[in-house]
Amino acid sequence: MKAELEQLVALQNVDTGIRRLQSDLESIPRRRAEIESEFDQRAFEFKALQQAGETARETRAALDKELAEQRVRLEKAERDLMASNNSKVYEAAIRERDAAKKHIGELETKVLEQMEAAETAEKQLAEREPEFARLRAEHEERLRAFEEQTRSWSAEIEERRRERERRFAELPPGIKATYQRIVGRIRDGVALAEARNGACSACRMTLRPQLMAEIRRGDDIITCDNCNRILYYQPASQQTPQGTTVSAT
Ligand SMILES: [Zn+2]
Repeated sequence: MKAELEQLVALQNVDTGIRRLQSDLESIPRRRAEIESEFDQRAFEFKALQQAGETARETRAALDKELAEQRVRLEKAERDLMASNNSKVYEAAIRERDAAKKHIGELETKVLEQMEAAETAEKQLAEREPEFARLRAEHEERLRAFEEQTRSWSAEIEERRRERERRFAELPPGIKATYQRIVGRIRDGVALAEARNGACSACRMTLRPQLMAEIRRGDDIITCDNCNRILYYQPASQQTPQGTTVSAT
């Protein structure tokens, strides 16, 4: 029985590792979103400058179109003026010509403003480019490291699952069933608890000295009266490198 308890402890350590890896793998979308949102925040000024430049160029393109229309209007007014043969047509053409000229003047001023705005944005972008390049490189590096970690988690969980299968197959059928039954029933899936300092380390229930002695002997499978976990005793010198099975969850 002692050997079987040891097998169970090893199995439980593997199961705990699998659960931890599973929760790491499940956290991937959230962690990736965090990385992206942090980058968005840090790159905000860069994006604002890009946006400002783009807006200025778009506004300018619209102004240029309007300017071309007003120039056509001006040419027409000038032709009408040349062709006018009475004062009424003449005055109307003068008014139309002046209005077009005024509008053209206003549009030209606006075009200049937009050109300046685009230039300013481009200049600032160029000045800060090394800073932004560093930011982008850092971000790419973080993503790359994250992908690498994800791959290593996936590989590790596969390996642990194979180990789990192998260890589980080695158990006597009766023990397998007991273990699976307890795993299925217990919320955190941890079926074994160390009996330590006269208590169950999972639920803290005190264990009678006589029961402690039986657990220490390890001849039978003894479960905790309170939490139903299989109790085992581990001499201090033989603690598993993974630490205790309960605190590892
Ligand atoms: Zn207990």
